[in-house]
Amino acid sequence: MSPGRLRDPGLQHPPTLDPPLLSVRGVRKAFGDHVVLDGLSLDVRSHQVVVLIGASGSGKSTLLRCIDLLEDVDDGVIELEGQDITDPRLDANAVRARIGMVFQAYNLFPHLRVIDNVTLAPRLVHGTPPEQARADALAVLERVGLAAKAQAFPDELSGGQQQRVAIARALVAKPAVMLLDEVTSALDPELVGEVLSLLTELKSTGLTMVVATHEMGFAREVADEVCFLHEGRVHERGTPAQVLENPREERTREFLRRIT
Ligand code: ADP
Ligand code: MG
Repeated sequence: MSPGRLRDPGLQHPPTLDPPLLSVRGVRKAFGDHVVLDGLSLDVRSHQVVVLIGASGSGKSTLLRCIDLLEDVDDGVIELEGQDITDPRLDANAVRARIGMVFQAYNLFPHLRVIDNVTLAPRLVHGTPPEQARADALAVLERVGLAAKAQAFPDELSGGQQQRVAIARALVAKPAVMLLDEVTSALDPELVGEVLSLLTELKSTGLTMVVATHEMGFAREVADEVCFLHEGRVHERGTPAQVLENPREERTREFLRRIT
C-alpha cells in the first residue's frame, strides 16, 4: 500500500481474509445545516482496537452514537457482523445488545448497588433469569477487579471504580464490540491510569474496541490503528507510530502540535 495521499483512508486496512466486524461506509450526519459526519468510512476488524482522535467537535461522539443507534444517520451504511444495522426494520435494542457503549459520565444508577447496576439490563432487557444474571455480573466484576464491591453503592466508590463498573455493565452482555467515549475525561488525573490499564487488559483478551480519547499515551501503546477525524471524515489513519509520530497530513500535524 503506498503511503501517499489516500482518497478514503477510512477504508484502508492491511490485507486480510476476515471481513470487518464493523464497517461504517459513507455515513453522513447533520444537525440542521451543520454537517458533522460527511461521508465518513471506517472499518474495524475483530480483536482490533481503533482509537479515534480529533479536535473537540470533530464528530467522535456523534460517530459512536450513530454506531450505537442513538442517532439516525442521514445517509450511508453501518454493518455489524455483516448486517446493516441502520435498517429501520431491525429492533434497535437487539442491535444495541451486541454493542457495549461506555460514556464519559459513568451514568450508574445511584440508588442501585453495583451488582444491581450490572444485572439490570440483562434481567429487564434480555430476560436473563436472576441467578444467571447475578453469576454473570459477578464474573464480569471479577474481570474489572471489583467483585469485592458488588454490594457497594456507586457513591461509595472512586470515580475510577465507578467507570470500571460502567465498563463491567457494558461487558456483561458479551458485546461484539465495545465503544468507549472519552471514558477517562471526567476522572481525576490519578484515577485515569486504572481505567486505561483495564482497557489494555481487555484488549489482551481479544475484545474489539473503538475508543475516542485524548490520551495519546494510551493511543500509542494500545491502538492497533489511530484515526484522525477532521471535516467529517477519517482524514488520516494508520498505526500509532505512523499517525502520531510521523503524520502525513498537515491537519494531523497541526492537531498533534496543539494538544501536546
Ligand atoms: P466530539 O465528540 O469530537 O467532540 P461531537 O460528535 O460531540 O464531537 O460533536 C460534533 C458536532 O456536532 C459539534 O459541533 C456538536 O455541537 C454537534 N452536535 C452533537 N450533537 C448534537 C445535537 N444533538 N444537536 C446539535 N448539534 C450536535
Ligand atoms: Mg465527544
